[in-house]
Amino acid sequence: MPAHDDKETLSLLENFLKLNNAVNKSVAAPEKQMPKIYSLFCSDSRMDSSLLVANPANHMFVTRNIGNQAIGSIGSVDYPISHLDSIKLAMVIGHLNCGAVAAAYNSSRSLNPESAGNDFDAIVSKTLEKAKGLRKAYIHSEGEDAISEELAPMSMFFSNAAHIIGNDEHQFLPRHAAANVHFQIACMLEIGELRTKVEQGKLVLGGAIYDLFGRYGPVGSLYLININGNRDIGKTSILDSIRPRLRAPSYPMKF
Ligand SMILES: [Zn+2]
Repeated sequence: MPAHDDKETLSLLENFLKLNNAVNKSVAAPEKQMPKIYSLFCSDSRMDSSLLVANPANHMFVTRNIGNQAIGSIGSVDYPISHLDSIKLAMVIGHLNCGAVAAAYNSSRSLNPESAGNDFDAIVSKTLEKAKGLRKAYIHSEGEDAISEELAPMSMFFSNAAHIIGNDEHQFLPRHAAANVHFQIACMLEIGELRTKVEQGKLVLGGAIYDLFGRYGPVGSLYLININGNRDIGKTSILDSIRPRLRAPSYPMKF
């Protein structure tokens, strides 16, 4: 392997290690982790844990991948929910201008949709059923194929739900980001003990969109669009006590 003499890159490494040492000296981790929040969000470098909570260390267990997908990261979703009883809130967070959502949308246009009528939940169920069979293929692919296959369940969903999500030029990607959050939440409700914990009131499962650009309100607004699998958050009684303090939803999330 050739020696790497790019000064800028080596400086990045040096500072990375320095900062890591500084953090480790100032924050001693407890023996056992006790996070209260679980978050599944996109690997996009513009997203950061510290944007979501002030002190993420030992407070928020995180799974990140392209397109904030539960499918393909089942173990990383199931482990914290099933084994860390300290977690009371689980959040799936999508964002505007998500490259994974755009790529999945582009792939979806060459797929043949499977008809499941106009019911959003029926389309989600039908897509999930098919998507489960795709996961085994992930380890056999690489490069662009691996990216496409990782996004394949989302592409299938966008294809099957195209007539509901729509294709308005200004709305379609924000609406796809929201639709994907709903789709991933439906998937999470089938993983391990998650649905049972939600039904027993031990866990609240939320879905939200992060507005990095201030397109629908102040920059950094987080719009709640799903609670415990319910897409109509305006009528969800679980939110009644905090509803007056929630940001009025202006995100195009209706399905
Ligand atoms: Zn993204």
